[in-house]
Amino acid sequence: MSRTAASSPQAIASDRCPECGASVIGGRAGCQALCDEVSARAYSHPSYAATHDLAFDTYCMQHLEPYCRSGKSYAAHLTRLCCGVEHAGNPKIYAAIQKWLNGSVAIEKPEALSYRGQMTVADVYLASSAEEHTKRVHEWAQSVWEAYTVQHDLARAWIRAALGA
Ligand SMILES: [Zn+2]
Repeated sequence: MSRTAASSPQAIASDRCPECGASVIGGRAGCQALCDEVSARAYSHPSYAATHDLAFDTYCMQHLEPYCRSGKSYAAHLTRLCCGVEHAGNPKIYAAIQKWLNGSVAIEKPEALSYRGQMTVADVYLASSAEEHTKRVHEWAQSVWEAYTVQHDLARAWIRAALGA
């Protein structure tokens, strides 16, 4: 029964991840499976590992449920995405963010945005080489970061706070 449903174009087209909008069989669960596959590549080759953090933070900012439930987790992924896009993934900034959030800082979670970028993990999943994977992760991260334009100032202020902490 499920084979018939899966092979029907209508069934495929109607399966959509409610968080990022990816057209994927299985909706949210199918999208998570793609994320797990993309993450697993990081352990198979150094060129995939180089973009792993950026890809994961990008995925989290498209999937607030379950990754950004608290103010702190939201701030963690938004600032890490900012670091990945605007600071080329500077390890000193990643470390400062972690130290800052491990402290007793109180973070108010900003309003969730409904539009979270045009590209999805499905675009990265379909990459056929390490070079293409790397290129697509950067494009995906950029598109999600641009979707968060109204929160750029907030993210940059949080990074300044982390660096000053
Ligand atoms: Zn999704």
